[in-house]
Amino acid sequence: MGTEEEVNKVLFDEEAATSLVKELRASFTNGKTRSYDWRVTQLKSILKMINEREQEIVTALRDDLSKPELESTVYEIAMLRNSITLALKEIKHWIKPDKVKTSLTTFPSSGEIVSEPLGVVLIISAWNYPFLLSLDPVVGAIAAGNAIVLKPSEIAPASSSLLAKLVGEYMDSSSIRVVEGAVTETSALLEQKWDKIFYTGNGRIGRIVMAAAAKHLTPVLLELGGKSPVVVDSGINLQVAVRRIIGGKWGCNNGQACISPDYIIITKDYAPNLVNTLKSELEKFYGKNPLESKDLSRIVNSNHFNRLAKYLDEDKVSGKIVYGGERDKTNLKIAPTILLDVPRDSLIMSEEIFGPLLPILTVDKIEDSFDIINSGAKPLAAYLFTNNKKLRQQFVSIVSAGGLVVNDTTLHLAVHTLPFGGVGESGMGAYHGKFSFDAFSHKKAVLYRSFAGDAAIRYPPYTVGKIRLMKVLMTGSIFSIIGALLGWSKV
Ligand code: NAD
Repeated sequence: MGTEEEVNKVLFDEEAATSLVKELRASFTNGKTRSYDWRVTQLKSILKMINEREQEIVTALRDDLSKPELESTVYEIAMLRNSITLALKEIKHWIKPDKVKTSLTTFPSSGEIVSEPLGVVLIISAWNYPFLLSLDPVVGAIAAGNAIVLKPSEIAPASSSLLAKLVGEYMDSSSIRVVEGAVTETSALLEQKWDKIFYTGNGRIGRIVMAAAAKHLTPVLLELGGKSPVVVDSGINLQVAVRRIIGGKWGCNNGQACISPDYIIITKDYAPNLVNTLKSELEKFYGKNPLESKDLSRIVNSNHFNRLAKYLDEDKVSGKIVYGGERDKTNLKIAPTILLDVPRDSLIMSEEIFGPLLPILTVDKIEDSFDIINSGAKPLAAYLFTNNKKLRQQFVSIVSAGGLVVNDTTLHLAVHTLPFGGVGESGMGAYHGKFSFDAFSHKKAVLYRSFAGDAAIRYPPYTVGKIRLMKVLMTGSIFSIIGALLGWSKV
Protein backbone atom coordinates (compact mmCIF):
# COMPACT_ATOMS: atom_id res chain seq x y z
CA MET A 1 0.00 0.00 0.00
CA GLY A 2 1.40 3.42 -0.93
CA THR A 3 0.89 6.80 0.65
CA GLU A 4 -2.54 8.41 0.61
CA GLU A 5 -1.39 10.55 -2.30
CA GLU A 6 -0.34 7.47 -4.31
CA VAL A 7 -3.66 5.75 -3.67
CA ASN A 8 -5.53 8.86 -4.85
CA LYS A 9 -3.46 8.96 -8.02
CA VAL A 10 -4.32 5.34 -8.86
CA LEU A 11 -7.99 6.11 -8.35
CA PHE A 12 -8.10 8.60 -11.19
CA ASP A 13 -10.00 6.48 -13.68
CA GLU A 14 -12.65 7.18 -16.30
CA GLU A 15 -15.35 7.61 -13.68
CA ALA A 16 -13.26 10.17 -11.85
CA ALA A 17 -12.52 11.95 -15.12
CA THR A 18 -16.22 12.06 -16.00
CA SER A 19 -17.15 13.53 -12.66
CA LEU A 20 -14.32 16.09 -12.84
CA VAL A 21 -15.44 17.32 -16.25
CA LYS A 22 -19.05 17.45 -15.03
CA GLU A 23 -18.02 19.60 -12.10
CA LEU A 24 -16.00 21.98 -14.25
CA ARG A 25 -18.72 22.17 -16.86
CA ALA A 26 -21.21 23.21 -14.19
CA SER A 27 -18.83 25.93 -13.16
CA PHE A 28 -18.39 27.07 -16.76
CA THR A 29 -22.11 26.96 -17.45
CA ASN A 30 -22.94 29.15 -14.47
CA GLY A 31 -20.84 31.83 -16.14
CA LYS A 32 -18.15 32.17 -13.49
CA THR A 33 -15.14 31.84 -15.78
CA ARG A 34 -16.59 34.24 -18.34
CA SER A 35 -16.49 37.22 -16.04
CA TYR A 36 -13.74 39.74 -16.56
CA ASP A 37 -13.07 39.87 -12.82
CA TRP A 38 -12.58 36.11 -12.56
CA ARG A 39 -10.11 36.11 -15.44
CA VAL A 40 -8.08 38.95 -13.97
CA THR A 41 -8.12 37.47 -10.47
CA GLN A 42 -6.90 34.11 -11.74
CA LEU A 43 -4.15 35.68 -13.84
CA LYS A 44 -3.01 37.66 -10.82
CA SER A 45 -3.05 34.47 -8.75
CA ILE A 46 -0.69 32.67 -11.15
CA LEU A 47 1.61 35.69 -11.04
CA LYS A 48 1.54 35.66 -7.25
CA MET A 49 2.15 31.92 -7.29
CA ILE A 50 5.28 32.08 -9.43
CA ASN A 51 6.60 35.13 -7.60
CA GLU A 52 6.13 33.66 -4.13
CA ARG A 53 7.20 30.11 -4.98
CA GLU A 54 10.03 30.75 -7.43
CA GLN A 55 12.60 28.92 -5.31
CA GLU A 56 10.45 25.78 -5.07
CA ILE A 57 10.05 25.83 -8.84
CA VAL A 58 13.80 26.16 -9.36
CA THR A 59 14.36 23.24 -6.97
CA ALA A 60 11.81 21.01 -8.73
CA LEU A 61 13.46 21.73 -12.06
CA ARG A 62 16.84 20.88 -10.57
CA ASP A 63 15.41 17.59 -9.24
CA ASP A 64 13.83 16.64 -12.55
CA LEU A 65 16.49 17.82 -14.99
CA SER A 66 19.43 19.39 -13.09
CA LYS A 67 18.26 22.49 -14.90
CA PRO A 68 20.67 25.38 -14.22
CA GLU A 69 19.06 28.12 -12.11
CA LEU A 70 19.56 30.76 -14.80
CA GLU A 71 17.68 28.67 -17.35
CA SER A 72 14.86 28.01 -14.87
CA THR A 73 14.45 31.61 -13.84
CA VAL A 74 14.68 33.00 -17.37
CA TYR A 75 13.11 30.40 -19.67
CA GLU A 76 10.45 29.04 -17.36
CA ILE A 77 9.63 31.71 -14.79
CA ALA A 78 10.44 35.07 -16.42
CA MET A 79 8.89 34.03 -19.74
CA LEU A 80 5.76 32.99 -17.90
CA ARG A 81 5.75 36.22 -15.92
CA ASN A 82 5.94 38.21 -19.18
CA SER A 83 3.12 36.21 -20.63
CA ILE A 84 0.85 36.85 -17.60
CA THR A 85 1.80 40.54 -17.45
CA LEU A 86 0.94 40.94 -21.11
CA ALA A 87 -2.40 39.17 -20.68
CA LEU A 88 -3.27 41.39 -17.71
CA LYS A 89 -2.36 44.49 -19.67
CA GLU A 90 -4.14 43.51 -22.88
CA ILE A 91 -7.13 41.46 -21.78
CA LYS A 92 -9.45 44.49 -21.85
CA HIS A 93 -8.67 44.92 -25.56
CA TRP A 94 -8.67 41.20 -26.36
CA ILE A 95 -12.17 40.60 -25.01
CA LYS A 96 -13.66 43.59 -26.83
CA PRO A 97 -15.67 42.60 -29.90
CA ASP A 98 -13.96 43.52 -33.19
CA LYS A 99 -16.21 45.75 -35.29
CA VAL A 100 -16.23 44.72 -38.95
CA LYS A 101 -17.51 46.30 -42.16
CA THR A 102 -20.66 44.86 -43.64
CA SER A 103 -21.69 44.77 -47.27
CA LEU A 104 -24.25 46.54 -49.33
CA THR A 105 -26.12 43.25 -49.62
CA THR A 106 -27.10 43.40 -45.95
CA PHE A 107 -27.62 47.18 -45.77
CA PRO A 108 -28.52 48.51 -43.27
CA SER A 109 -26.52 46.39 -40.82
CA SER A 110 -23.47 46.32 -38.59
CA GLY A 111 -21.26 43.41 -37.65
CA GLU A 112 -18.79 42.33 -35.04
CA ILE A 113 -16.66 39.35 -34.06
CA VAL A 114 -17.24 38.32 -30.47
CA SER A 115 -14.59 36.17 -28.78
CA GLU A 116 -16.36 33.66 -26.60
CA PRO A 117 -14.73 31.04 -24.37
CA LEU A 118 -14.84 27.50 -25.75
CA GLY A 119 -15.86 25.86 -22.49
CA VAL A 120 -13.92 23.18 -20.62
CA VAL A 121 -10.46 22.61 -22.05
CA LEU A 122 -7.75 20.01 -21.49
CA ILE A 123 -4.07 20.96 -21.53
CA ILE A 124 -1.57 18.10 -21.70
CA SER A 125 2.03 19.21 -21.33
CA ALA A 126 5.55 17.84 -21.74
CA TRP A 127 8.48 17.36 -19.37
CA ASN A 128 11.25 19.52 -20.83
CA TYR A 129 9.91 22.92 -19.77
CA PRO A 130 7.35 21.57 -17.33
CA PHE A 131 6.28 24.93 -15.84
CA LEU A 132 6.29 27.09 -18.94
CA LEU A 133 4.64 24.48 -21.16
CA SER A 134 1.96 23.81 -18.54
CA LEU A 135 1.14 27.30 -17.35
CA ASP A 136 1.63 29.36 -20.50
CA PRO A 137 -1.34 27.70 -22.26
CA VAL A 138 -3.27 27.99 -18.97
CA VAL A 139 -2.74 31.77 -19.13
CA GLY A 140 -4.33 31.87 -22.59
CA ALA A 141 -7.19 29.61 -21.51
CA ILE A 142 -7.95 31.76 -18.44
CA ALA A 143 -7.74 35.01 -20.41
CA ALA A 144 -10.25 33.56 -22.86
CA GLY A 145 -12.60 32.57 -20.00
CA ASN A 146 -12.43 28.75 -19.98
CA ALA A 147 -12.53 26.12 -17.26
CA ILE A 148 -9.32 24.09 -17.39
CA VAL A 149 -7.84 20.70 -16.60
CA LEU A 150 -4.06 20.59 -16.77
CA LYS A 151 -2.23 17.26 -17.10
CA PRO A 152 1.51 17.80 -16.55
CA SER A 153 4.07 15.24 -17.67
CA GLU A 154 4.86 12.31 -15.40
CA ILE A 155 8.40 12.32 -16.83
CA ALA A 156 9.16 15.40 -14.69
CA PRO A 157 7.59 14.15 -11.42
CA ALA A 158 8.87 16.84 -9.03
CA SER A 159 7.52 19.57 -11.31
CA SER A 160 4.25 17.71 -11.83
CA SER A 161 3.57 17.33 -8.13
CA LEU A 162 4.60 20.92 -7.37
CA LEU A 163 2.26 22.15 -10.11
CA ALA A 164 -0.61 20.14 -8.61
CA LYS A 165 0.15 21.52 -5.15
CA LEU A 166 0.54 25.16 -6.20
CA VAL A 167 -2.43 25.28 -8.55
CA GLY A 168 -4.51 23.74 -5.74
CA GLU A 169 -3.33 26.44 -3.33
CA TYR A 170 -3.50 29.51 -5.54
CA MET A 171 -6.13 28.97 -8.21
CA ASP A 172 -9.93 28.64 -8.18
CA SER A 173 -10.40 24.88 -7.87
CA SER A 174 -14.01 25.03 -9.05
CA SER A 175 -12.70 25.89 -12.53
CA ILE A 176 -8.98 25.06 -12.75
CA ARG A 177 -7.62 21.65 -11.82
CA VAL A 178 -4.47 19.61 -12.22
CA VAL A 179 -4.60 15.86 -12.82
CA GLU A 180 -1.29 14.11 -12.39
CA GLY A 181 -0.52 10.81 -14.03
CA ALA A 182 0.70 8.89 -17.04
CA VAL A 183 -0.99 6.86 -19.79
CA THR A 184 -3.91 5.49 -17.70
CA GLU A 185 -4.90 8.87 -16.31
CA THR A 186 -4.40 10.67 -19.63
CA SER A 187 -6.42 8.02 -21.45
CA ALA A 188 -9.27 8.45 -18.93
CA LEU A 189 -9.16 12.19 -19.57
CA LEU A 190 -9.07 11.69 -23.32
CA GLU A 191 -12.29 9.65 -23.20
CA GLN A 192 -14.15 12.78 -22.06
CA LYS A 193 -15.75 15.40 -24.22
CA TRP A 194 -13.66 18.57 -24.15
CA ASP A 195 -14.16 21.84 -25.95
CA LYS A 196 -10.49 21.96 -26.92
CA ILE A 197 -7.42 19.84 -26.29
CA PHE A 198 -4.07 21.58 -26.22
CA TYR A 199 -1.28 19.01 -26.38
CA THR A 200 2.49 19.51 -26.21
CA GLY A 201 4.71 16.52 -26.92
CA ASN A 202 5.76 14.12 -29.64
CA GLY A 203 3.81 13.37 -32.81
CA ARG A 204 3.15 9.72 -31.97
CA ILE A 205 1.08 10.66 -28.92
CA GLY A 206 -0.23 13.66 -30.85
CA ARG A 207 -1.95 11.18 -33.15
CA ILE A 208 -3.51 9.38 -30.17
CA VAL A 209 -4.76 12.71 -28.81
CA MET A 210 -6.20 13.74 -32.17
CA ALA A 211 -7.93 10.39 -32.67
CA ALA A 212 -9.53 10.63 -29.21
CA ALA A 213 -10.60 14.21 -29.91
CA ALA A 214 -12.14 13.21 -33.24
CA LYS A 215 -14.69 11.02 -31.45
CA HIS A 216 -16.22 14.15 -29.94
CA LEU A 217 -15.36 16.53 -32.81
CA THR A 218 -13.14 18.35 -30.35
CA PRO A 219 -10.67 20.80 -31.88
CA VAL A 220 -7.00 20.24 -31.07
CA LEU A 221 -3.93 22.40 -30.89
CA LEU A 222 -0.84 20.23 -31.25
CA GLU A 223 2.54 21.63 -30.25
CA LEU A 224 4.91 18.99 -31.58
CA GLY A 225 8.58 18.90 -32.52
CA GLY A 226 10.82 17.95 -35.39
CA LYS A 227 14.34 18.29 -36.74
CA SER A 228 15.06 22.03 -36.67
CA PRO A 229 17.94 22.76 -39.05
CA VAL A 230 20.56 25.53 -38.97
CA VAL A 231 22.03 26.67 -42.27
CA VAL A 232 25.39 28.38 -41.84
CA ASP A 233 26.54 30.47 -44.79
CA SER A 234 30.18 31.53 -45.22
CA GLY A 235 31.44 35.10 -44.83
CA ILE A 236 29.67 35.69 -41.52
CA ASN A 237 30.72 36.52 -37.98
CA LEU A 238 31.27 32.89 -37.12
CA GLN A 239 31.98 33.43 -33.45
CA VAL A 240 28.66 35.20 -32.87
CA ALA A 241 26.82 32.58 -34.96
CA VAL A 242 28.41 29.73 -33.02
CA ARG A 243 27.62 31.32 -29.65
CA ARG A 244 23.99 31.70 -30.71
CA ILE A 245 23.87 28.09 -31.89
CA ILE A 246 25.33 26.93 -28.56
CA GLY A 247 22.84 29.12 -26.67
CA GLY A 248 19.91 27.54 -28.53
CA LYS A 249 21.26 24.01 -28.28
CA TRP A 250 23.15 23.25 -25.09
CA GLY A 251 21.98 26.44 -23.35
CA CYS A 252 18.38 25.30 -23.70
CA ASN A 253 18.07 22.33 -21.39
CA ASN A 254 21.07 20.64 -23.01
CA GLY A 255 19.31 20.29 -26.35
CA GLN A 256 16.10 18.91 -24.83
CA ALA A 257 14.03 21.74 -26.26
CA CYS A 258 11.57 21.60 -29.12
CA ILE A 259 13.22 24.42 -31.08
CA SER A 260 16.84 23.56 -30.31
CA PRO A 261 19.04 23.27 -33.39
CA ASP A 262 18.84 19.62 -34.46
CA TYR A 263 21.50 19.63 -37.18
CA ILE A 264 23.66 22.06 -39.14
CA ILE A 265 24.13 22.36 -42.90
CA ILE A 266 27.25 24.10 -44.17
CA THR A 267 29.49 24.00 -47.24
CA LYS A 268 32.38 21.50 -47.25
CA ASP A 269 34.96 24.30 -47.45
CA TYR A 270 33.65 26.23 -44.48
CA ALA A 271 32.91 23.22 -42.21
CA PRO A 272 36.41 23.03 -40.62
CA ASN A 273 36.11 26.68 -39.50
CA LEU A 274 32.73 25.96 -37.96
CA VAL A 275 33.95 22.86 -36.13
CA ASN A 276 36.98 24.70 -34.73
CA THR A 277 34.91 27.64 -33.54
CA LEU A 278 32.32 25.33 -31.98
CA LYS A 279 35.08 23.47 -30.14
CA SER A 280 36.73 26.59 -28.76
CA GLU A 281 33.50 28.31 -27.72
CA LEU A 282 32.11 25.14 -26.14
CA GLU A 283 35.27 24.78 -24.11
CA LYS A 284 35.03 28.40 -22.96
CA PHE A 285 31.45 27.85 -21.83
CA TYR A 286 31.53 24.37 -20.31
CA GLY A 287 35.23 23.74 -19.58
CA LYS A 288 37.45 20.81 -20.45
CA ASN A 289 35.18 18.35 -18.69
CA PRO A 290 31.61 19.31 -19.56
CA LEU A 291 30.21 16.28 -17.72
CA GLU A 292 31.10 18.19 -14.54
CA SER A 293 29.57 21.48 -15.68
CA LYS A 294 26.77 22.88 -13.52
CA ASP A 295 25.55 24.86 -16.51
CA LEU A 296 24.23 21.88 -18.46
CA SER A 297 20.99 20.04 -17.71
CA ARG A 298 21.15 16.28 -17.42
CA ILE A 299 19.24 13.88 -19.66
CA VAL A 300 15.78 13.50 -18.18
CA ASN A 301 15.82 9.72 -17.61
CA SER A 302 17.53 6.49 -18.59
CA ASN A 303 15.12 5.82 -21.49
CA HIS A 304 16.12 9.05 -23.13
CA PHE A 305 19.78 8.47 -22.20
CA ASN A 306 19.69 5.08 -23.93
CA ARG A 307 17.89 6.52 -26.95
CA LEU A 308 20.66 9.11 -27.41
CA ALA A 309 23.40 6.54 -26.77
CA LYS A 310 21.89 4.38 -29.52
CA TYR A 311 22.23 7.26 -31.98
CA LEU A 312 25.92 7.59 -31.13
CA ASP A 313 26.63 3.87 -31.15
CA GLU A 314 25.20 3.16 -34.58
CA ASP A 315 28.05 1.73 -36.70
CA LYS A 316 27.89 4.30 -39.45
CA VAL A 317 27.81 7.16 -36.94
CA SER A 318 30.23 6.30 -34.12
CA GLY A 319 33.29 7.23 -36.19
CA LYS A 320 31.89 10.65 -37.07
CA ILE A 321 32.28 12.26 -33.64
CA VAL A 322 34.66 15.23 -33.89
CA TYR A 323 34.07 16.65 -30.43
CA GLY A 324 32.61 15.32 -27.16
CA GLY A 325 30.88 11.97 -27.01
CA GLU A 326 31.61 11.45 -23.29
CA ARG A 327 28.75 10.09 -21.20
CA ASP A 328 28.04 9.25 -17.59
CA LYS A 329 25.20 6.78 -17.36
CA THR A 330 24.91 6.92 -13.57
CA ASN A 331 24.34 10.67 -13.52
CA LEU A 332 22.51 10.73 -16.87
CA LYS A 333 24.97 13.21 -18.36
CA ILE A 334 26.06 13.47 -21.99
CA ALA A 335 28.65 16.02 -23.07
CA PRO A 336 28.03 18.41 -25.97
CA THR A 337 28.85 16.26 -28.99
CA ILE A 338 29.53 17.30 -32.58
CA LEU A 339 29.44 14.86 -35.47
CA LEU A 340 30.66 15.65 -38.97
CA ASP A 341 29.24 14.21 -42.19
CA VAL A 342 26.87 11.64 -40.71
CA PRO A 343 24.99 9.61 -43.35
CA ARG A 344 21.50 10.91 -43.94
CA ASP A 345 19.99 7.45 -43.52
CA SER A 346 21.38 7.11 -39.98
CA LEU A 347 19.10 7.01 -36.92
CA ILE A 348 20.40 10.35 -35.68
CA MET A 349 19.33 11.97 -38.97
CA SER A 350 15.99 10.15 -39.15
CA GLU A 351 14.58 11.12 -35.77
CA GLU A 352 14.37 14.28 -33.71
CA ILE A 353 17.50 14.27 -31.53
CA PHE A 354 16.19 16.16 -28.49
CA GLY A 355 19.52 16.06 -26.68
CA PRO A 356 23.11 17.34 -26.71
CA LEU A 357 24.20 15.77 -30.03
CA LEU A 358 24.71 18.02 -33.04
CA PRO A 359 25.41 16.49 -36.46
CA ILE A 360 26.79 18.63 -39.27
CA LEU A 361 25.93 17.88 -42.90
CA THR A 362 28.05 19.33 -45.67
CA VAL A 363 26.97 20.48 -49.13
CA ASP A 364 28.79 21.84 -52.18
CA LYS A 365 26.65 24.95 -52.47
CA ILE A 366 24.79 26.52 -49.55
CA GLU A 367 21.61 26.81 -51.67
CA ASP A 368 21.49 22.97 -51.70
CA SER A 369 20.57 23.04 -48.02
CA PHE A 370 17.01 24.17 -48.77
CA ASP A 371 16.31 20.98 -50.73
CA ILE A 372 17.67 18.91 -47.85
CA ILE A 373 15.38 20.68 -45.39
CA ASN A 374 12.33 20.45 -47.62
CA SER A 375 12.91 16.76 -48.34
CA GLY A 376 12.10 15.91 -44.71
CA ALA A 377 9.09 16.57 -42.49
CA LYS A 378 8.34 20.24 -41.86
CA PRO A 379 10.31 21.28 -38.76
CA LEU A 380 9.12 23.41 -35.85
CA ALA A 381 11.87 25.96 -36.51
CA ALA A 382 14.57 26.63 -39.09
CA TYR A 383 17.56 28.94 -38.75
CA LEU A 384 19.87 30.66 -41.20
CA PHE A 385 23.10 32.57 -40.55
CA THR A 386 24.02 34.77 -43.48
CA ASN A 387 24.86 38.26 -44.68
CA ASN A 388 23.51 37.47 -48.12
CA LYS A 389 20.17 39.17 -48.78
CA LYS A 390 19.27 36.92 -51.68
CA LEU A 391 19.90 33.76 -49.66
CA ARG A 392 17.80 35.16 -46.84
CA GLN A 393 14.92 35.86 -49.23
CA GLN A 394 15.17 32.37 -50.71
CA PHE A 395 15.19 30.86 -47.22
CA VAL A 396 12.06 32.75 -46.18
CA SER A 397 10.17 31.90 -49.34
CA ILE A 398 11.31 28.29 -49.86
CA VAL A 399 11.65 26.74 -46.40
CA SER A 400 8.44 25.67 -44.68
CA ALA A 401 8.69 25.46 -40.88
CA GLY A 402 6.68 26.54 -37.83
CA GLY A 403 8.92 29.59 -37.51
CA LEU A 404 12.14 30.97 -38.98
CA VAL A 405 14.96 32.99 -37.46
CA VAL A 406 17.73 34.67 -39.44
CA ASN A 407 21.07 35.16 -37.67
CA ASP A 408 20.00 33.67 -34.34
CA THR A 409 18.29 30.63 -32.88
CA THR A 410 15.18 30.06 -30.71
CA LEU A 411 14.53 33.76 -30.00
CA HIS A 412 11.28 33.95 -31.98
CA LEU A 413 9.73 32.11 -29.02
CA ALA A 414 10.16 35.24 -26.90
CA VAL A 415 8.39 37.59 -29.31
CA HIS A 416 4.75 37.65 -28.27
CA THR A 417 3.60 39.30 -31.48
CA LEU A 418 4.72 36.20 -33.42
CA PRO A 419 2.58 33.03 -33.37
CA PHE A 420 4.38 30.00 -31.97
CA GLY A 421 3.41 26.65 -33.42
CA GLY A 422 4.23 24.04 -36.01
CA VAL A 423 3.14 23.08 -39.49
CA GLY A 424 2.63 19.58 -40.88
CA GLU A 425 4.45 17.06 -38.68
CA SER A 426 5.55 19.78 -36.25
CA GLY A 427 2.00 20.56 -35.19
CA MET A 428 -1.12 22.56 -35.83
CA GLY A 429 -2.36 25.82 -34.33
CA ALA A 430 -0.28 28.38 -32.49
CA TYR A 431 -0.13 30.36 -29.25
CA HIS A 432 1.77 33.09 -27.35
CA GLY A 433 0.55 36.63 -26.73
CA LYS A 434 -2.84 37.29 -28.26
CA PHE A 435 -2.56 34.05 -30.25
CA SER A 436 -3.00 32.21 -26.92
CA PHE A 437 -6.22 34.08 -26.24
CA ASP A 438 -7.43 33.32 -29.77
CA ALA A 439 -6.46 29.65 -29.47
CA PHE A 440 -8.94 29.24 -26.61
CA SER A 441 -11.73 31.44 -28.02
CA HIS A 442 -14.44 30.91 -30.56
CA LYS A 443 -14.72 33.81 -32.96
CA LYS A 444 -18.46 34.29 -33.04
CA ALA A 445 -19.82 36.17 -36.03
CA VAL A 446 -22.61 38.58 -35.06
CA LEU A 447 -24.69 40.61 -37.53
CA TYR A 448 -27.03 43.32 -36.28
CA ARG A 449 -30.04 44.44 -38.35
CA SER A 450 -33.00 46.66 -37.61
CA PHE A 451 -36.54 46.28 -38.91
CA ALA A 452 -35.93 48.97 -41.47
CA GLY A 453 -35.07 48.29 -45.12
CA ASP A 454 -37.04 45.08 -45.56
CA ALA A 455 -36.52 44.64 -49.32
CA ALA A 456 -39.30 42.85 -51.16
CA ILE A 457 -36.85 41.36 -53.70
CA ARG A 458 -35.76 38.70 -51.17
CA TYR A 459 -39.19 37.17 -51.14
CA PRO A 460 -41.36 35.26 -53.63
CA PRO A 461 -42.81 35.53 -56.12
CA TYR A 462 -39.35 35.46 -57.80
CA THR A 463 -39.84 37.65 -60.87
CA VAL A 464 -37.32 38.22 -63.66
CA GLY A 465 -36.84 41.77 -62.40
CA LYS A 466 -36.07 40.52 -58.89
CA ILE A 467 -33.55 38.02 -60.22
CA ARG A 468 -31.83 40.72 -62.24
CA LEU A 469 -31.69 43.09 -59.29
CA MET A 470 -30.59 40.35 -56.91
CA LYS A 471 -27.69 39.45 -59.19
CA VAL A 472 -26.34 42.99 -59.25
CA LEU A 473 -26.98 43.42 -55.55
CA MET A 474 -24.72 40.44 -54.91
CA THR A 475 -21.90 42.17 -56.81
CA GLY A 476 -21.95 44.82 -54.08
CA SER A 477 -21.34 47.59 -56.62
CA ILE A 478 -23.47 50.65 -56.09
CA PHE A 479 -23.09 51.63 -59.79
CA SER A 480 -24.38 48.28 -61.03
CA ILE A 481 -27.32 48.51 -58.65
CA ILE A 482 -28.25 52.01 -59.85
CA GLY A 483 -27.79 50.76 -63.43
CA ALA A 484 -30.12 47.83 -62.83
CA LEU A 485 -32.73 50.05 -61.18
CA LEU A 486 -32.62 52.33 -64.20
CA GLY A 487 -32.93 49.35 -66.51
CA TRP A 488 -29.36 49.64 -67.93
CA SER A 489 -28.19 46.30 -66.62
CA LYS A 490 -27.19 43.56 -69.07
CA VAL A 491 -27.82 40.75 -66.56
P1 NAD B 1 6.09 13.49 -22.64
O1 NAD B 1 6.69 12.15 -22.58
O2 NAD B 1 6.05 14.34 -21.42
O3 NAD B 1 4.62 13.34 -23.24
C1 NAD B 1 3.75 14.44 -23.40
C2 NAD B 1 2.45 14.17 -22.72
O4 NAD B 1 1.80 13.07 -23.34
C3 NAD B 1 2.60 13.81 -21.24
O5 NAD B 1 1.73 14.60 -20.47
C4 NAD B 1 2.24 12.34 -21.21
O6 NAD B 1 1.64 11.94 -20.01
C5 NAD B 1 1.28 12.21 -22.35
N1 NAD B 1 1.20 10.83 -22.86
C6 NAD B 1 2.22 9.93 -22.95
N2 NAD B 1 1.77 8.76 -23.47
C7 NAD B 1 0.46 8.93 -23.71
C8 NAD B 1 -0.57 8.09 -24.24
N3 NAD B 1 -0.32 6.85 -24.65
N4 NAD B 1 -1.81 8.60 -24.34
C9 NAD B 1 -2.06 9.86 -23.96
N5 NAD B 1 -1.14 10.69 -23.44
C10 NAD B 1 0.09 10.24 -23.32
O7 NAD B 1 6.82 14.40 -23.69
P2 NAD B 1 7.54 13.98 -25.05
O8 NAD B 1 6.57 13.53 -26.04
O9 NAD B 1 8.76 13.19 -24.77
O10 NAD B 1 8.03 15.46 -25.41
C11 NAD B 1 9.04 15.68 -26.31
C12 NAD B 1 8.45 16.00 -27.67
O11 NAD B 1 7.60 17.14 -27.53
C13 NAD B 1 9.48 16.40 -28.68
O12 NAD B 1 9.09 15.93 -29.93
C14 NAD B 1 9.45 17.91 -28.64
O13 NAD B 1 9.93 18.51 -29.81
C15 NAD B 1 8.00 18.17 -28.42
N6 NAD B 1 7.80 19.45 -27.76
C16 NAD B 1 7.15 20.41 -28.45
C17 NAD B 1 6.98 21.66 -27.87
C18 NAD B 1 6.28 22.76 -28.59
O14 NAD B 1 5.99 23.77 -27.96
N7 NAD B 1 5.97 22.63 -29.87
C19 NAD B 1 7.47 21.90 -26.59
C20 NAD B 1 8.12 20.86 -25.92
C21 NAD B 1 8.27 19.64 -26.51
